[in-house]
Amino acid sequence: MKTKYDLLIIGGGVLGTFHAYHALGKGLKVAILEKDNRPQGATTRNFGQVVPSGMNTKWQHYGRESLRVYKEIQKTFDISMRQNGSVYLASNEEEVQLLEELAAINKQNAYPSSLLTKAECLSKYPGLRADYVKTGLFFPEEVTVEPGTMIHRLLKYLIDFKKLDFYANTQAISLEQNTEEVHINTATGSIFKAAKVLICNGSDFKTLYPKLFAESDLQLSKLQMLQTKPQPNYKLPGSILTGLSIRRYEAFAECPSFAAIKAKENPDTPEKKWGVHILFKQATDGSIILGDSHEYADAGRAEDLGYGLNMDIDNFMIAEAQKIFDLPTYAIQDRWYGIYSQCKTRDIYLENIGERIHIATGIGGKGMTGSAGFSKEHINTLFN
Ligand SMILES: Cc1cc2nc3c(=O)[nH]c(=O)nc-3n(C[C@H](O)[C@H](O)[C@H](O)COP(=O)(O)OP(=O)(O)OC[C@H]3O[C@@H](n4cnc5c(N)ncnc54)[C@H](O)[C@@H]3O)c2cc1C
Repeated sequence: MKTKYDLLIIGGGVLGTFHAYHALGKGLKVAILEKDNRPQGATTRNFGQVVPSGMNTKWQHYGRESLRVYKEIQKTFDISMRQNGSVYLASNEEEVQLLEELAAINKQNAYPSSLLTKAECLSKYPGLRADYVKTGLFFPEEVTVEPGTMIHRLLKYLIDFKKLDFYANTQAISLEQNTEEVHINTATGSIFKAAKVLICNGSDFKTLYPKLFAESDLQLSKLQMLQTKPQPNYKLPGSILTGLSIRRYEAFAECPSFAAIKAKENPDTPEKKWGVHILFKQATDGSIILGDSHEYADAGRAEDLGYGLNMDIDNFMIAEAQKIFDLPTYAIQDRWYGIYSQCKTRDIYLENIGERIHIATGIGGKGMTGSAGFSKEHINTLFN
């Protein structure tokens, strides 16, 4: 390889690709190496909910910047973004209280949201069960993207219009740095050169620096997902988050009543055992994506999570979903799992190896929401 890049990014998921977007915006010469023909990690297996409303203050800031970035790109190139807002649906008085407290926090932060009465929820969200919902909190600025499409279109946009060099089927297997540059060796024998390397390897902890990752506090989370058949004559707008999400998402941990409400929860329930909360999103074919569950393993030990899908978890999620929405059909057309990485004690894993090699991974369950905003700040830090 003759080209020497200013920045070479390893991993073409959402975190790596948005770093490329911001680096290209600074006029840098950038390449991405992706081990697969097309990225197929967590970035392609999720809901595609871009929900800064669910994040703590720090990540809501990044999420709001992400909304700006998604909307800006969507104006010139279709990356599958739709702005239909997000809603949190409370199912009892405790959750109603948390919604009211979060609305007050968002007012202080100048982040638009509005409380919806039960009647407003029922009229806005067809099929929502009157015996489930008490009130809702709606975030009009929030968007969804299609996870099976977004990253491929974003990469295409960067390749066609921003001069990104993208190398598919190119797995980085080792790096060597000297005072001037980094040499990146690949499984296919080609060698790349760059002034800086950023590793955004998602949940692959066996290829590069396996010892470093094994000794870190990174862990893997396996999430099961379901997709119904297309729903006849039925529209469910935006991201739908329900009572268990109110009890799980970081944003609510900043509400004054959160700790007391959590302390009262029964630790011995299926939702606690499998880390289940129920989210809905309608895909463009009219189907409803619903999930999800959380099971954990140490970094580099993905095999401990098994390769199958636990039908007890799926059946539990469907039964819970049926208590919330009467969908025209609950016939399932697809089931899958995704794995993301997260730190036990930090909100993201950032490490430097010498002067020129940087690692950013472990963004957890907030990557579709936080990556575009976070990576802007991170690129500014890396390139002063
Ligand atoms: C089921 C599920 C639902 C989710 N829902 C949401 C949601 O609605 N909203 C939200 O904000 N977040 C959601 N998330 C989280 C989000 O999907 C992740 O945070 C995000 O996709 C992580 O992106 P990433 O780029 O770090 O990792 P990945 O998407 O895993 O990308 C890493 C990439 O690096 C490549 N790679 C690894 N090692 C190498 C190497 N040595 N050489 C070359 N390439 C390499 C891999 O092939 C892969 O393409 C969800 C996650 C899951 C699993």
